[in-house]
Amino acid sequence: MSQPGAAIIKVEHLHRIYHLGGEDIHAINDVSLELFSGQMSAIVGRSGSGKTTLLNLIAGLDEPTEGAVWIDGEPLNALTEQQRLALRRDRIGFVFQAFGLLPLLSAEENVGVPLRMRHLSARERQERTISALEWVGLRDRMDHRPYELSGGEQQRVALARALAARPQFILADEPTGQLDSQTGRRIIGLLRRLVTEHDITVVIVTHDPQVMEEADVVHELHDGRLVDTRYR
Ligand code: ADP
Ligand code: MG
Repeated sequence: MSQPGAAIIKVEHLHRIYHLGGEDIHAINDVSLELFSGQMSAIVGRSGSGKTTLLNLIAGLDEPTEGAVWIDGEPLNALTEQQRLALRRDRIGFVFQAFGLLPLLSAEENVGVPLRMRHLSARERQERTISALEWVGLRDRMDHRPYELSGGEQQRVALARALAARPQFILADEPTGQLDSQTGRRIIGLLRRLVTEHDITVVIVTHDPQVMEEADVVHELHDGRLVDTRYR
């Protein structure tokens, strides 16, 4: 593996405590870690270990009870809500377990949705959309709606949607969670190629052993704590 780049995401002594019905749930408990550019990082752990909470904190979708998240040297807590919104729009791509496609829109339209928030010409939007769909091997399916696509194809549309926006990094929450292992492997292969061919930093939270095998680094959470970090 080549020399890793700078820490693009840094998490320092992060805590997130939820208060629910008089009970405190320490979903993230003193987690510090660094995620490097040019890598595919995995954050793993059982269901309930705090993976989604951590991803939301990294994306600035949730606020830590204590501690800090730094993106590219900038502390998230120093940004206004507007700036955080811009960060997510311009630099982060999201991929979800349930694909997150809009059911009434075609694959092409789904990929184009986030591009509408940008100042791009219609032509540029279309070019980016088609080349992203081509890249995931679905150019011939671009008129299909989600229900006319398999799960794996829907996830490939979601990857195309993330790619078309040309983000600096992609955060994926259990991207293979609803797929059989062979289809999951194909999605992992595409996530890997986002790193190598498009220089996008990929962070996957998962409990899929196939992702753990493929990732450059695996951070393991247990009950909200970081218990292990393994490099390949
Ligand atoms: P994972 O993604 O690893 O399955 P989560 O981050 O979703 O885990 O959840 C971690 C812990 O925090 C769990 O015990 C969960 O029940 C709790 N939790 C998550 N979100 C909330 C919330 N909004 N309110 C209260 N508790 C929550
Ligand atoms: Mg989760």
